[in-house]
Amino acid sequence: MLTEASVPRLLVDTKGRIAAKLRISVTDRCNFACLFCMPDKSAMRWLPSADLLSFDEIERVTRVFVAMGITKVRITGGEPLLRNGVEGLVKRLTEIDGLESVDITTNGFFLGSKAQALKTAGLRGVTVSLHSLKEDRFARISGINALPRVLESISEAIRVGLHPMKINSVAIRGYNDDEVLDLVDYARKMNVAIRFIEFMPLDGLDIWDRDKMVTGQEILDTVRSRFSILPAGRGDGETASIWKFADGRGELGVITPMSEPFCDDCDRLRLTSDGKILSCLFDTEYHDLKPILRNSGDDEKLATFVREAVWKKPEGVGYMPWIKQGWKNPRNMNAIGG
Ligand code: SAM
Ligand code: SF4
Repeated sequence: MLTEASVPRLLVDTKGRIAAKLRISVTDRCNFACLFCMPDKSAMRWLPSADLLSFDEIERVTRVFVAMGITKVRITGGEPLLRNGVEGLVKRLTEIDGLESVDITTNGFFLGSKAQALKTAGLRGVTVSLHSLKEDRFARISGINALPRVLESISEAIRVGLHPMKINSVAIRGYNDDEVLDLVDYARKMNVAIRFIEFMPLDGLDIWDRDKMVTGQEILDTVRSRFSILPAGRGDGETASIWKFADGRGELGVITPMSEPFCDDCDRLRLTSDGKILSCLFDTEYHDLKPILRNSGDDEKLATFVREAVWKKPEGVGYMPWIKQGWKNPRNMNAIGG
């Protein structure tokens, strides 16, 4: 029988899933206010900077995670490019033996000016979130008039060779679901991958309901109305089911945490910007590493704490019927680190 002690060097949970990917949030702050992510800006209370893990602390924790089998890191937030010197952190992380890749997910606002520095620092790829190609609608959804700047950033990221380059879109019925084909067209024109993520009940404005959620199946039906697409499957531990376009240009992914959860082989963990491990997006139990980090706990103590936290990873959203019945996570995506 599987016991925690029988696999001491890997991060394993009670279902036998082995963690391989870590998403590190470097800030809860954001210069956007996407309506499916944050509460009203005036209601936002950012974490005090003293509560954020320093780059020394993030590097140290990442080394501990990598020693226990994490091979891929994605830096996120809030808006990760708002954190001063994030390219320095990228460089430090890419130098960790055993870590295969460091990528970033960003709203794109600062990417144009930072793409080259990030590439030089060793960043592999970048995912830019883009939910509309209409300027006024972009402003309404993301709380800022920044579409031209984000599109320029995408071009610049491609120019400097950040790869893989992906676009993330959250389609919300009644807001932007009529733009699915336009977004696909744009991604294909740029020859980058596009992923549609189902709207999850992790929003600060409390607008989520099942009817607003556009399922992955609906996205596929819409895309098929114009394009011929071929299934390419979902890799082990990956969130996106991949579809190729018959003409070979671009790539489509649908991420279906709500309609078709992929929890059974989930291999990812999250570290919040204030140093808490979250083993599942829908868990409410946060495992706070900071007391160990800041009270001179050694790496062995950190490793034991991490292993115990991962061991308790919930089975997943598919096993939490209350989520489909409208339960809301008290933390918003920007604070979790999406
Ligand atoms: N600020 C960066 C950005 O927007 O890409 C990184 C952080 S953001 C929280 C990470 C991803 O989560 C983005 O692609 C965003 O679209 C997605 N996201 C935010 N709230 C969501 C929600 N309620 N449901 C599904 N995806 C969401
Ligand atoms: Fe900011 Fe990203 Fe959340 Fe939008 S999705 S408010 S850009 S953290």
